[in-house]
Amino acid sequence: MALPLENLFSRRRRALESAGQQSLLDFLAPIDPEPEPAPPPAPRRAGPPLRVGVLGSGSGGNAVVLESGPHRLLIDAGFSCKEIVKRMQEIGFDAKTLGGIVLTHEHQDHCKGARRFLNRFKLPVYGTPGTLAGAGLRTEAAKAGGEIRSGAPREIAGFVVEPFLIPHDASEPVGFVIEDPCGRRIGLVADIGCRTSLAWGRLRDLDLLILETNHDLDMLRNGPYPWTLKQRVAGRHGHLSNREAAEGLPELVGDRLRRVVLYHLSRTNNLPALAAAAIGEALDREGCPAQVTVTEQDRPTPWLEVT
Ligand SMILES: [Zn+2]
Ligand SMILES: [Zn+2]
Repeated sequence: MALPLENLFSRRRRALESAGQQSLLDFLAPIDPEPEPAPPPAPRRAGPPLRVGVLGSGSGGNAVVLESGPHRLLIDAGFSCKEIVKRMQEIGFDAKTLGGIVLTHEHQDHCKGARRFLNRFKLPVYGTPGTLAGAGLRTEAAKAGGEIRSGAPREIAGFVVEPFLIPHDASEPVGFVIEDPCGRRIGLVADIGCRTSLAWGRLRDLDLLILETNHDLDMLRNGPYPWTLKQRVAGRHGHLSNREAAEGLPELVGDRLRRVVLYHLSRTNNLPALAAAAIGEALDREGCPAQVTVTEQDRPTPWLEVT
């Protein structure tokens, strides 16, 4: 029996069309009607909310703070020390309360302010051996902090941090699953050239996912980058496109996933609306109620809470 036409369209698609925009996924076959929304899962363990503050994201710099009760962790320090402090102040975060810095890889947009910041606030720094060597931070890590390795979870600043290797043109780049003392789990994967079974196998049972949506393939193809740079960005050791992220999302959708944070968008080769639409449609097709948040390069994203 044919379904009523309106059942074939998602809420987000209707919203796009009512706004006079063409849906990005019109080429897809009609989708199933939306299932009844699932009740929210029970809290992991009672405790204060886990808060996520993205200070900024993109090729001009990346940094994320996590806060769970008294525990505070900084992931990457890709702005100048001064800029990181300024952005922390903008979201009401006191850098002096941090318990450590963990790095994904040594590229400048992830490490630019790391040394100055960790020296100023006397913080331990953690990274893979390749990242610490590439960032010139082996000495600092030996004094306070240390090496982390793919597949070896380690407690850092009150969180359990599990790194996993990802494909990217850096020495030993990693993504993370990070669990707070109440058992709430955040996944972060960016600067990843392609989906891998290792990374996708680790990014399970998440409450919040920070996922790279670097570029729109058509914008990259038709954009101003020189051909070699286009090849690098789209290559298997470059960055993840909106489409690749959307195609990989169904495997990452679990009962607890309540928010997907779009990260490391290119200002030249992407638009927030394109990334949000691609990911929103993918979540709709899965019947997943997770909210989508697009991060920005020039300003912090307001705190995101996981309860
Ligand atoms: Zn980057
Ligand atoms: Zn990178």
